[in-house]
Amino acid sequence: MKIICIGRNYTDHISELQNEKPTAPVIFLKPDTAILLKKFPFVIPAFSNDVHHEVEILVKICKVGKYISPKFAHKYYDQIGLGIDFTARDVQNELKAKGLPWEKAKAFDGSALIGEFVQKESFESLENINFELHSNNKVVQQGNTGLMLWKIDELISYVSQYFTLKKGDVIFTGTPKGVSQVKNGDELKGFIEGKQVFKIQVK
Ligand code: ZN
Repeated sequence: MKIICIGRNYTDHISELQNEKPTAPVIFLKPDTAILLKKFPFVIPAFSNDVHHEVEILVKICKVGKYISPKFAHKYYDQIGLGIDFTARDVQNELKAKGLPWEKAKAFDGSALIGEFVQKESFESLENINFELHSNNKVVQQGNTGLMLWKIDELISYVSQYFTLKKGDVIFTGTPKGVSQVKNGDELKGFIEGKQVFKIQVK
């Protein structure tokens, strides 16, 4: 399986990092080795002094597809989840300044936390899903899928122009504002519509 991530999909986060608003979705990939194994803590890698949490809605692909039109995109995913795109912000800033790819900052081992998935039918509307990240029992990020620049169906369509989507692939749909540094000892919990879908320790 592969992990496809969308960057800059919420305007409030774009201004937070002083990025330009993109004219098309920003895409990057994480390998399957980036998946943080269940029940393991997130270990801050030695090469970074500034790893940020980015909580994101996840979409799980259920069927192979390429050149999918937005109209039919809903047939290609069946589950919605929540995860964290852990980002070595200091490394990313260096790479960005040099115009280099982001993989060292975004695709390292353990950088993809994938929480529990929920059947998409259990949501009244996929364009009004509330989600939250709590750090040490305080809300640090709060989002709603209605604030996405590109909606899930548009993302599926766009991504499938470049990459064949396969069953089991996961799309990280971008983070809202509130990203910040994780520290040794933090406990991070993710919620979709008030339901806890992950809990993790930082070491
Ligand atoms: Zn992200």
